[in-house]
Amino acid sequence: MTDKRRYFESGATRGGGWRRAQLNALLRMLTEGEDELTRALEEDLGKGRTEAFLSEIAVVRAETEYALKHLNYWMAPEKIAVPAGFRPARAWTQPRPLGVVLVIGPWNYPVQLVLAPLVGALAAGNAAVLKPSELAPRSSRALARLVPQYLDPSAVSVMEGGVETSTALLAEPFDHVFYTGGERVGKIVMKSAAEHLTPVTLELGGKPPAGGGGGDPGAGARRIAYGKFMNAAQTCGAPAYALTTPDRAPALAAALPAAITEFYGTDPKESEDYGRIVNEQHFDRLVGLLDGGRIFSGGRHDRAARYLEPTILRDVDPSSPLMQEEIFGPLLPILEVEDLEEAIGFVNARPHPLAAYLFSDREEHLRAFTWHVQAGGIAHNVCTVQLAVPGLPFGGVGASGMGTYHGKRSFETFSHLQPVFSKPTGVDTLRVAYPPFGAVKRKLLRKLL
Ligand code: NAD
Repeated sequence: MTDKRRYFESGATRGGGWRRAQLNALLRMLTEGEDELTRALEEDLGKGRTEAFLSEIAVVRAETEYALKHLNYWMAPEKIAVPAGFRPARAWTQPRPLGVVLVIGPWNYPVQLVLAPLVGALAAGNAAVLKPSELAPRSSRALARLVPQYLDPSAVSVMEGGVETSTALLAEPFDHVFYTGGERVGKIVMKSAAEHLTPVTLELGGKPPAGGGGGDPGAGARRIAYGKFMNAAQTCGAPAYALTTPDRAPALAAALPAAITEFYGTDPKESEDYGRIVNEQHFDRLVGLLDGGRIFSGGRHDRAARYLEPTILRDVDPSSPLMQEEIFGPLLPILEVEDLEEAIGFVNARPHPLAAYLFSDREEHLRAFTWHVQAGGIAHNVCTVQLAVPGLPFGGVGASGMGTYHGKRSFETFSHLQPVFSKPTGVDTLRVAYPPFGAVKRKLLRKLL
């Protein structure tokens, strides 16, 4: 940390040239290290090659290319208008890097969720320490091996380890902590950061709803199943439950298993595109959640293989852990509400989710849902894929987190937009505001301001 701070303070990371060189090196790392990273993801989470590319490598690539394309514009000072009373003068904001930042990642997208924040940190000209999750050990190892080969080792390093490593890092006075993970640890991170008044971004989880069921039920079910069961549904933005009306529920319930079969075959265990649960502890937790409703389809599981079939549940008990806790696995309960108003009330009565989805072909329903539902983000007629749009900010609100990133927001998260006010010497126009204030000055000032 001390070495990095010294390096940062030398100004080495400050210029556009260094930032661009790091981002280009990151792109090279993603190309040349793709095999190593996808193999690690396969070993940690049973991620298929294509899914690993789509949901991890390609997302970071897109973020990096977007940052390279916009960097000059983001780094440029922004002019601010000066009120007449202060003129002649100029005002602007000048983005400057924060310093040395810490990125703590989770296990579910162990590559993307460490490297995508890093794109912002580098674009903004910071030094960074990365702490990948110990629960995805092969991915953590691959990052620890690759990063120093490509990125400036004086500015970027990977610290592997678990709670002790995070705890030791959090005791250091970083200039920003970017944490992705669960709510419980999020609170620990925020408390530790408070000791140094270090600002935090907390990318947390929750229970995103997928409401509606309007439009073509087949297409809707395919999009819900895609966003849900990717990575064996260990995705922060994946829908935690479907909310539909009694007249639509049977069609949705029938279409979801059909979509699952279309994607993963009649036995998803045999599909190389269907992932595995990260560890036995999470597997046991998820199997326990099955008691919260009637298994409508799926439900087969194999502890030794950490395999849990994509499962649709109906007749759900709203007070069960299935509906009270974050699911974070391939169980999708279908709940019924009378209408859109009740659906909105249902969602808003719970902690704000990271995302909320509505499936409908009625513009007024989409508008009402978007207006009334408080969530980190909203998507219409898709689930989860909005996270891959680099220009769209990503982050939670309330219980699902604080702060956003992706695209320009990543750059801003890791920058201080330093305001500068500059007034030439010469005629001292401020004299009008200096004491003593007589009646004439008072009148003039009231007029000017
Ligand atoms: P986690 O909270 O268990 O761990 C995340 C990171 O925190 C790991 O690197 C871990 O080493 C570290 N950590 C664990 N205990 C710690 C402690 N006591 N002190 C300091 N650091 C500690 O989270 P997870 O289980 O790895 O990830 C799953 C959670 O992350 C889910 O709740 C999910 O919704 C959320 N998530 C959110 C997003 C998002 O972008 N908002 C993305 C993915 C996952």
